[in-house]
Amino acid sequence: MGKVYLTGAGPGELELLTLKALRVVREADVIIYDRLANPDILKEAKDGCEFIYVGKEDGKHILPQEEINEVLYRYALKYHSVVRLKGGDPFVFGRGGEEGKYLKERGIAFEIIPGVSSAISVPAYAGIPVTHRGVSVSFRVVTGHETPNKESSQVDWDSLSTNETVIFLMGLHNLENIRNNLIRVGRDADTPCAVISRGTSSEQRTVVGTLQEIYEKVQEAKLPTPALIVVGEVVNLREDLNWFEEKMA
Ligand code: SAH
Repeated sequence: MGKVYLTGAGPGELELLTLKALRVVREADVIIYDRLANPDILKEAKDGCEFIYVGKEDGKHILPQEEINEVLYRYALKYHSVVRLKGGDPFVFGRGGEEGKYLKERGIAFEIIPGVSSAISVPAYAGIPVTHRGVSVSFRVVTGHETPNKESSQVDWDSLSTNETVIFLMGLHNLENIRNNLIRVGRDADTPCAVISRGTSSEQRTVVGTLQEIYEKVQEAKLPTPALIVVGEVVNLREDLNWFEEKMA
């Protein structure tokens, strides 16, 4: 019986993969992966390694989560080393916890290999520090995926009215709702925002605007996924710290 490595692939740029992740990728008998920010990682696998794609495209899951769990279990019975490769960090909106619980219930050994989460690294590649002395002393990473109507929302919108940095993942298609909700709970309509698409890759693009205008600007720019949203005064620091896009330009 093998072991499953629930492994973070990082945000995109190949060198942001950890050494530990690279080692298990090179040793893997099978790699079970999502739509990865960087498919070049798979080129590191040894000859004969099997590749199983279980990701989602355009929001449609190829396999439901229960079936992904089952695939992990089956391959753990068959092989010595199973790598479950996920974008960013496996525990940041990555469902790594669900997969770990499932394996534990079935007596399969697993390890977690944290990854560089897009939540912090993608803002960094857009020149935005998520905290900055005198500007923001905390940040929050929030799902942008759920429909933010008050009855069903698990997001505590009221608490997002303070001036802390907020990073929304999976929120590109919900940007208008997110904007409306933040303004409704009292966040200043002039708060600077950035939407960063395909961060850390050569296709990285960033749109900056006030909370009020960001949705329209992003519509106009037709930014592709994956993209994340940063809300807060730290966005202004990009004027001085935009090292990556300036290097690419
Ligand atoms: N576990 C991942 C997040 C999974 S949720 C992590 O830690 O990064 C998927 C969301 O992450 C996307 O909808 C997008 O909001 C964000 N994301 C992931 N990679 C990104 C990238 N390269 N650029 C911008 N956003 C990214």
